[in-house]
Amino acid sequence: MARSLRNGDFDLVLAIQSPSSPDRWYRVLLDRARALTGETVLSCDCTGWKQNARNAAARRAVAAGHSDAGLRVPRGCKHTDAAQALLGSPAGAAMPRYRTEHPYVGATRTRWAPLREFVPEGGWGIQEARITVSDEPYHLVLLQATGTTDTTATAAIAFAACHPVTLGSRAAPIGDWGGYTLAASFCRQAGVPLAGEPPLHFAEELIGRGATRRSAPQPGTSNREILAIGDQRDLGDGLTPAQRAENTLRLFLGPQHALLERQGFLDVSSGLYPGRVYRLRRDPQRRYERRVRVFEQGQYRADYCIVRAQSVPEADQYLTVYFGLIADERRILSVVQRGNIFSPNSDGQERETVPAVWRPRAAALTASA
Ligand SMILES: [Zn+2]
Repeated sequence: MARSLRNGDFDLVLAIQSPSSPDRWYRVLLDRARALTGETVLSCDCTGWKQNARNAAARRAVAAGHSDAGLRVPRGCKHTDAAQALLGSPAGAAMPRYRTEHPYVGATRTRWAPLREFVPEGGWGIQEARITVSDEPYHLVLLQATGTTDTTATAAIAFAACHPVTLGSRAAPIGDWGGYTLAASFCRQAGVPLAGEPPLHFAEELIGRGATRRSAPQPGTSNREILAIGDQRDLGDGLTPAQRAENTLRLFLGPQHALLERQGFLDVSSGLYPGRVYRLRRDPQRRYERRVRVFEQGQYRADYCIVRAQSVPEADQYLTVYFGLIADERRILSVVQRGNIFSPNSDGQERETVPAVWRPRAAALTASA
C-alpha cells in the first residue's frame, strides 16, 4: 500500500511558518474522530481560520437581516489548503534515508529523548520540496521515522522561503514540531490516543466577537510559548537541560502533566498483559528516578527498576519510560528482566490509595481514506 501522509494518521498535519515572523508558527490539525469516519476536517490557529474569514460576508449578511442563508463555504485558510494538498499527495514510499548525524535528525533526537531509543539508526527519512502557499514560496520538510516495532510516522514542517536560512536554522523547529508529531503518532498507533494530545485551538473560534477577549489566555498559548523557547537557535534561552526536558515533557503530556504534578504519578495500561498497570512515579525533587510500581488485576505486585541508559535529565528519563511502555512495551520489559524486579515498597513506603485501573488499548487506528 502506498504510504501517504493520511496513512501516517496525523493529528498535527502541518506546522507552517509565518512569512512575516520567523518565530510565528501556525498549526494545522486534523480532527481525529472525524478522520476515522472518512471525513477530512482541518483547522488552523491563524486569524483567518479563527475568524472564519471566508464566510465573513455571508455572516454579515445574516447579521444585517439581509439573508438567512447559512455559511456556505467550507471553513478554511491558506494553511489548511496547503495541508489538504499534502494529505492528497503520496509521500514517504521512497523517502531517502538519513543517518542520525543529519542536523534535522540530530535536533529531533536531542529534543525528544524517547525517539533516541525508539527509532534505530537508519530509521530516519527526510524529503524536501519547494511548494507555494497562496503565492508565497515555501520550503517543505517531511521527516519520517520508523520505530523499533516497525511503526512509521511522518511530520511536515513548512518554512517560509523569504526568511534567511543559516546553517542549522531549520533544525530547531524541525526538532520541536517534528519530534512532537512523531512521538504523538507512535502513541496513537499503539492505541493510546490521549498521549501527545495536540494543542487545542478549536475553542478559539469565537475570538473576534469582542476585541478584549483577545488578551484572555487561550488554549494552546502555553504550548506555543514552550515551543517558542525551543525555537532559540543557539539555545541561549537561559534554560538548563533539565528545564528544557521538563518543557518537552509538559508539551507531550498536555493536561496529563498537571495530573502528574498533582498526584505524583501516571498510570500506563499494559498492551501485552490484560489487567496489568504500570504506575510511573516521580521524585518530587526531580533528583532521581523512582521504581515503576506494577499492578496486576488491581493488586500492587512488584517494583521494576528501569535505570537510565545514559546521563539524561530526570524528565527525559520519565518521558522515555512512559513513551516506551506505550510504544514498545516488549523492549522496555526486556531490559527489566535482567534482575531488576523487586518486591513492593522496595524504594519507598508510600501507600497506594488510588486504584490502578487497567484499560484495554484502542484498536490500532488505521486510515479510512
Ligand atoms: Zn491558517
